[in-house]
Amino acid sequence: MSKKIAVLPGDGIGIEIVAQAVKVLECLNSDFGLNAEMENGLVGGSAYDETGSPLPEATLKLARASDAVLLGAVGGYKWEALDIAVRPEKGLLGLRSELELFANLRPAILYPQLAHASTLKEDVVSGLDIMIVRELTGGIYFGQPRGIRELEDGEKQGFNTLIYKESEVERIAYVAFETAMKRDKRLCSVDKANVLECTELWREVIERVSKHFPDVELSHMYVDNAAMQLVRAPKQFDVMVTTNMFGDILSDCAAMLTGSIGMLPSASMDKNQKGMYEPIHGSAPDIAGQDIANPLATILSVAMMLRYSLGAEDLALKVEQAVDEVLNQNLRTADIFTDGDIKVGTEAMGDAVVAALKA
Ligand code: NAD
Repeated sequence: MSKKIAVLPGDGIGIEIVAQAVKVLECLNSDFGLNAEMENGLVGGSAYDETGSPLPEATLKLARASDAVLLGAVGGYKWEALDIAVRPEKGLLGLRSELELFANLRPAILYPQLAHASTLKEDVVSGLDIMIVRELTGGIYFGQPRGIRELEDGEKQGFNTLIYKESEVERIAYVAFETAMKRDKRLCSVDKANVLECTELWREVIERVSKHFPDVELSHMYVDNAAMQLVRAPKQFDVMVTTNMFGDILSDCAAMLTGSIGMLPSASMDKNQKGMYEPIHGSAPDIAGQDIANPLATILSVAMMLRYSLGAEDLALKVEQAVDEVLNQNLRTADIFTDGDIKVGTEAMGDAVVAALKA
């Protein structure tokens, strides 16, 4: 049965890297029996320029009608002075909340070929393979009330609300336990239950759900310790699950253990396995349009899409093997290049992955 993919390149390098991911999908269509129809849409600053909105109704309609969304990145210097309501990032947040993409899966995998690129010692990070499951549509980023108010004495006070319902914790817990079941069956839930009542409830619900997954070894860790452990001994982790804000911070920390922001994909899922797939990096306006951006994170996002939303695990593995193969060939974009490697541009890297797929 044909599947529909909404392709939203966005801004900056988004356009260049998504073009490489589309080449990969086209190759899977023509040579490997993937039956995927792709349709382009506007999001972010480019959407604002054309329509006055960073998330036009047509894009939302296209995303809703698709089985999966492939997104590049949004944002850039040009739109930084805009009102917050129409900034490019609003397009991304709008897609996440409108599509109810509550589960963010961010793997931090260190390719052995790139072990020397990490800022940590090679023996600390080599073989690293962590999956961070972050709650994406709740918690302090969305909680009400929020704002900045003036107190009676004239001093200003900023406030936000950390808030989670049991059902919100339960659904992310299921995603995390099911993810752990497909991996090494170890799950670490990260909270601040010693200080925050909201995460005391988080811990209680995680414990409750764990009864349905007796094979998964569950542990709990306070977020400050988790941050420390991630840089001290990251290989102790298999799957981590945490709140929206803690996940935001910890997943960036885990990403940097691997050395390059240009290598890491992500998936944001709803309850029906529909997902939005995107590299973890931004639109990199400093290098946009120069054919030097690394497209591999976006291509690896396609692998996640094949696995989680399109039910094509075999093709997901093929794409991951093709990426492994181009790294074995020592092909490197500028961000992962070291002496002795072969430097290639964005286009050439995309072509090399397609060639490895066909080989
Ligand atoms: P960034 O991730 O765009 O760039 C950080 C650094 O990493 C830059 O030096 C950039 O050149 C480099 N880099 C990023 N991706 C790369 C790639 N694929 N290959 C090689 N080098 C790469 O983060 P930033 O500079 O903080 O933000 C730039 C813009 O992107 C901002 O407007 C920001 O709001 C937006 N942003 C968007 C997303 C998203 O769309 N999901 C995420 C983060 C930032």
